[in-house]
Amino acid sequence: MTDIYGSTRKKLADKLTELGEKPSRADIIFPALYGELIDDLSVLPLKKESLDTACGNFSLRLPECTDVLTSDGADKFLFRLSDGNTVESVLMKHGFGYNVCVSTQVGCNMGCAFCASGRLKKIRDLTVSEMVGQVLMIRRSLGERINGISIMGIGEPLENLANVLDFIDIMMYPKGFDIGIKHITLSTCGLVPKIYELADSASPVNLAISLHAPDDTLRRRIMPITGKYPLADVIGAARYYSDKNNRRVTFEYVMLDGINDSDKCAEKLSSLLGGLNCYVNIIRYNPSEGSPFRCSPHERIMTFYDILKKHGIGVTMRRELGASVGAACGQLRANGIDKLTNL
Ligand code: SAH
Repeated sequence: MTDIYGSTRKKLADKLTELGEKPSRADIIFPALYGELIDDLSVLPLKKESLDTACGNFSLRLPECTDVLTSDGADKFLFRLSDGNTVESVLMKHGFGYNVCVSTQVGCNMGCAFCASGRLKKIRDLTVSEMVGQVLMIRRSLGERINGISIMGIGEPLENLANVLDFIDIMMYPKGFDIGIKHITLSTCGLVPKIYELADSASPVNLAISLHAPDDTLRRRIMPITGKYPLADVIGAARYYSDKNNRRVTFEYVMLDGINDSDKCAEKLSSLLGGLNCYVNIIRYNPSEGSPFRCSPHERIMTFYDILKKHGIGVTMRRELGASVGAACGQLRANGIDKLTNL
């Protein structure tokens, strides 16, 4: 059986051809799956033989939602996958609509010192179907259109780029989720060759790069990936991305008390980014249990912000949604697993 949620429209058409069916049936099946949200292939408007072929060859397996935590503006969903692994997704309600933040791997191997996801090492990449499944399950429970997707849950999406590109293709299908490329954002810790690959792909979505430090020495301390891809190369890749796609790149900068929040860091960051078509998204650190890091005090964050502004760098501050339910990166899954192992 082929997992139908794992196929782009093109791959489904190819599979139908292989099964002796007209590839154009994909244009009946795709709107039914992602527009009408059918959960049973036997209701498709197809002739008996085609229905038998579809039902006999395609499965509609979705992850099982095992927990939902609700707070002001953000609901956190925990999903159990078919092999028993768990991942999480967050539904954020903004004034202008709904955004779903999806996970791309079970665990993460990037080892960022401040991040809860890294406490659980990567077990495997998620399949296309498991990523589509997160959005589809949330879309069904919500009963309303989803306006945007953030590919910044657990995992490093650029390590799983081929699957992520198919996932994006399905999210953009016009008679389904119909999410525009400008409403999809992918966040990476900076896998340089893959940034070039995404820039040259058919779906150059909004790119966010987790920077978190203005020089290699400090960044290596909190983000080990810096040892492999130094900042100069990351900035080079970001420049290529924005030039090629005429798009502003976002740099995420999480405020860690006494670590990366000094005036000097702000000055260095301004010179690093000067002249680049970008802006900095300042993020309040959301400490998870056992984390040695704290969020910088409000006044420090404001001073940091002002220095960047003074140098003409675009700056925004991420609205903090869902901190009370541990909606920051890997916390629900990590807590859920701690609970289980403590039993
Ligand atoms: N691996 C990708 C995407 C997942 S993390 C990446 O590194 O970008 C999404 C963002 O949340 C990253 O910028 C990450 O550094 C940040 N983050 C991780 N833990 C956090 C925490 N406890 N509080 C605030 N932001 C956090």
